[in-house]
Amino acid sequence: MTLRLHNTLTGTKDVFEPLEAGRVRMYTCGPTVWNFAHVGNLRAFLFYDLVRRHLRVSGYRVTHVMNLTDIDDRILDQAMHAGTTIADFVQPYAAAFFEDMDSLRFERAEHYPRATEHIPEMVDMISTLIEQDNAYVADGDVYFRITSFPKYGALSHLDRAGLKAGARVATDKYDKESVSDFALWKKAHPEDEKLGAAWDAPFGRGRPGWHIECSAMSKRYLGDTLDIHAGGVDLMFPHHENEIAQSEAANHKTFARVWLHSEFLSDATGEKMSKSAGGFTTLRNLVAAGHDPLAIRFFLIANAHYRARVRLSNEALHAAGEQVRRLREFADRVRRTAPAQRDDAQLAEKTEQVRTGYREALDDDLNLPQGMGLVFDLVREANTALDAERMGPQNKAVLEALLDEVDAHLDVLRADEPGLAEEVERLIAEREDARKARDFARADQIREDLKRRGIALEDSKDGVRWRRLIEGARS
Ligand code: AMP
Ligand code: ZN
Repeated sequence: MTLRLHNTLTGTKDVFEPLEAGRVRMYTCGPTVWNFAHVGNLRAFLFYDLVRRHLRVSGYRVTHVMNLTDIDDRILDQAMHAGTTIADFVQPYAAAFFEDMDSLRFERAEHYPRATEHIPEMVDMISTLIEQDNAYVADGDVYFRITSFPKYGALSHLDRAGLKAGARVATDKYDKESVSDFALWKKAHPEDEKLGAAWDAPFGRGRPGWHIECSAMSKRYLGDTLDIHAGGVDLMFPHHENEIAQSEAANHKTFARVWLHSEFLSDATGEKMSKSAGGFTTLRNLVAAGHDPLAIRFFLIANAHYRARVRLSNEALHAAGEQVRRLREFADRVRRTAPAQRDDAQLAEKTEQVRTGYREALDDDLNLPQGMGLVFDLVREANTALDAERMGPQNKAVLEALLDEVDAHLDVLRADEPGLAEEVERLIAEREDARKARDFARADQIREDLKRRGIALEDSKDGVRWRRLIEGARS
């Protein structure tokens, strides 16, 4: 079976092959932590989760980096109003982001770099761009010179002539050579100092623009060339065009080989949900209104293909909750039912067909909704077979294997294990103690025991983090 992904660069579904056999380097644009993530953001993030899970199901080792934008104009603005520093201002929103991701069973990425912790990498890249004349300093700000990068516009299939004429882009007051040149660095203003938002650089004290953070942080963790770069469609232009221009001009290498863009979630009025527009819904709002996070997860990844627009509504969330319930009931029923003596040939054939069809759907540009259509057909037929006591031992084994495969993407079938988080935290503390006492055998044993239970530990500078492994990644 071959995985095909729709690459925005080529505009077609292309066979996916990473640069290094068996390993995928993936970068995804993460949250700007100036507020709680809204359900539209969550759709994009759960799309990343689906890509990541399917790559792992397909046998790849994935190194996934997702940035946290902890400095931008909105954050500066809000921190100023709140009379605090940007670091203090974003802290609760960054924490809320991880909580939301956990309750949606987002599989944790390998790295969550924060922009303010990678200023030296950004300064280096900007210096290179200035040296090469891809960038210039104007009144303390630094801009990327679009005319120095002929490929500009290739991702969003923009024509450059149109771009120059596009005076709509010229919304700011800076002294740019061309309206489409974009800021890499912004000169420090006195108020930025109080906010903790100014850094020294050879080209003047200031703070980074938004685009440069992704180019610099992806390079730091994944190297010059990424296998996959993903984000929501709204980021294609200008953000991703700008990332390509910065990275390719600085590194002289292809930046990302495959670009994936997920469509919007619309609000009840059909408009793109957005924080700035005001009418947005958070995960917390929906949970308070009685929706199960896993129904929300199901709705966001399985109801529509990632390249189709979806409208958020109560009805759709209820329907998703109902689908999760049906699937769980079915899984329980298969598990609890003692098999009949003989296998049912028709059920065996149908299950195999659906299993193949499901894999093909996922391999066809991650068409989970199509795969789920097949699975629900099978649930109906298998329930009839169960009513008639026709499920044999082999039938049962194959049905269970299929449900495991489906849940490797969905992750809605396993129940939350009460007390699991506390127990893992306790074992992590015990492992830390063992390490301090130089009892490395005990420390390793704890890590291995947890791994067998499907839990991976990762050492980070913020301490030890844990995440669940999906089926197939445990050995
Ligand atoms: P932000 O926190 O605004 O930087 O956005 C984080 C991610 O959410 C980006 O990948 C955006 O493309 C995505 N995003 C923002 N609004 C929506 C929406 N209404 N529907 C789907 N994705 C969105
Ligand atoms: Zn980005």
